Amino acid sequence: MTYVVTESCIRCKYMDCVEVCPVDCFYVGENMLVIHPDECIDCGVCEPECPAEAIVPDSDDRAAAWGELNRQYAGTWPNITRKGEPPDDADVWKGKEDKAKLFSPEPGTA
Ligand code: SF4
Ligand code: SF4
Repeated sequence: MTYVVTESCIRCKYMDCVEVCPVDCFYVGENMLVIHPDECIDCGVCEPECPAEAIVPDSDDRAAAWGELNRQYAGTWPNITRKGEPPDDADVWKGKEDKAKLFSPEPGTA
């Protein structure tokens, strides 16, 4: 099992999750983060830290559409180990539904 970042992260990108992960398995895109499924040790500490409730175990129904995307982009985006500045409008996007269409495949900056 692993944990998965879902669309709730898009344009929120608070990065609180990065601070608590003991194995530094988050990778950063332009407007969301992903978890490397082969590096995640399934400890679960990041899940309650996310203000957007974007992180779920892969057994959760919400993870189904995002598992492969986490694997794919964890292989190309840069690793991120320290919290940066969230977007100015992160709170505006928190809790909004249907954000998948806003996903950017571009890499972010760690
Ligand atoms: S804390 Fe949540 S919203 Fe912020 S980057 Fe991590 S998964 Fe995304
Ligand atoms: S479950 Fe643990 S190892 Fe996996 S991403 Fe979250 S904090 Fe990191």
